[in-house]
Amino acid sequence: MVLLDGKTLAKEKRENLKKKVEELKKKEGIIPGLAIIRVGNDPASEIYVRNKLKACQEVGIYAVEKHFNEEVNEQEIIDMIEFFNQDKTIDGILVQSPLPKNLDEKKIVSYILGSKDVDGFGIDNLGHLLANQEQVLAATPLGILNLLKEYKIPIASKKVLIIGRSQIVGRPLAIMFLNRDATVTIAHSKTKNLKELTLQADILISAVGHPRFITEDMVKEGTVCIDVGINRENGHVIGDMDFEKIKEKASYITPVPGGVGPMTIVTLLENVYELALKRKKEK
Ligand code: NAD
Repeated sequence: MVLLDGKTLAKEKRENLKKKVEELKKKEGIIPGLAIIRVGNDPASEIYVRNKLKACQEVGIYAVEKHFNEEVNEQEIIDMIEFFNQDKTIDGILVQSPLPKNLDEKKIVSYILGSKDVDGFGIDNLGHLLANQEQVLAATPLGILNLLKEYKIPIASKKVLIIGRSQIVGRPLAIMFLNRDATVTIAHSKTKNLKELTLQADILISAVGHPRFITEDMVKEGTVCIDVGINRENGHVIGDMDFEKIKEKASYITPVPGGVGPMTIVTLLENVYELALKRKKEK
C-alpha cells in the first residue's frame, strides 16, 4: 500500500505557489486577492476560514474576510458580493458554506461573477464543467485529481465509484472523472446494495461524513481509496474509511487527516492565483 500523502504534496505546492505569487507581484505588480464571506458562528466554518486566511498569508495572497452575524438579511450579503465583484484587488470570492438556514445559499452564491467564482460552485463554471470545457474547478475535487496525478494513478477506463452527491464534492468530481474517460458511478443515501458497487470499484471515493462507513469487506484488493470524510470522534479527526484495516487491501489510500484536506486548501489558493493571471491578461 502506498499512502497518498496530501500533506506533503500540499506543502510543496504552497512553496511553489509562493514563488509564483512573488514573481507575479515583481513582474506585473499584481497581488492575487481573495474575499471570504462568512455568516454566523458555525465553529467548523470559523476554523476553515481561519485556515484559509492563514494559508493565503503564507503564500502572499491578499485575503479579506467579511463576517456577518446571523441576523443579516440576504440583500446585505448580496451588496457585499457586488462590491467585491467590482473590486479590482479581488480575484476570487467565496461564501463559506453552510449559511444559516434562513438564507438562500444558492441564490446568494449566484451573485458572484463567474470570473471570480473561485470555488467553481456557480452555474457558469458548473455548466462549463458539464460541457467538458472546464474553467474554475471546485477545490476538493480538483485537489483529489491533483493527488492522483502526482502519484501517476491512471484514471481513463477505470471504474470509479463516488459515494456522496453534494454540490461541493460528489457531483463535480463525477463529471471531472467522466471528462477524463473514467467509467463513473455515483452512490448516495438512496442507493441500494452499496457493497455490490464498492467491490467493483478500481477507485473508491467516500464523501459521506460517517466514521467507519466503508469497512474492509467492502473493498476489493488493489483499490485506490480516497477518503474525503471529516468526522470528529473522541477529540480526533477521522475519515469515512476504516483506515487501519482497509490499508492492507488498498493499493493507495489517503490518510485522514493529511490526505484530501490539505489538498483542498492549496487548490483553492492555486485557483486564486489562476484567476489573478487572467487579471494580468486584461490589463
Ligand atoms: P454532504 O454532507 O452534503 O452529504 C453527504 C452525502 O452522503 C450525500 O450526498 C448523501 O446522499 C450521501 N450519503 C449519506 N448517507 C449515505 C448512505 N447511507 N449511503 C450512500 N451515500 C450516503 O456532503 P459533503 O458536503 O460533500 O461532505 C461529505 C463529507 O466530506 C463530510 O464529512 C465533510 O466534512 C467532508 N468534506 C471534506 C472536505 C475536505 O477538504 N477534506 C471537503 C468537503 C467536505
